[in-house]
Amino acid sequence: MDPTSDLDEGRDAEDVPACETCGDPLTDRPDRRVITWVEDDQVRSVQFCDEDCRENWTRE
Ligand SMILES: [Zn+2]
Repeated sequence: MDPTSDLDEGRDAEDVPACETCGDPLTDRPDRRVITWVEDDQVRSVQFCDEDCRENWTRE
């Protein structure tokens, strides 16, 4: 077991949120937007890298 390998580069890609519009990873996006709403008694959320992507998003 190597205790130095799992801090940054070892992070699972599935844990990185991605922009709902363009699919870019949002790990370093200070302007990212998060939208949450309730649908069918479940909390849904989507994230965007910036305001432009949020405006281009059409909820389906
Ligand atoms: Zn985007």
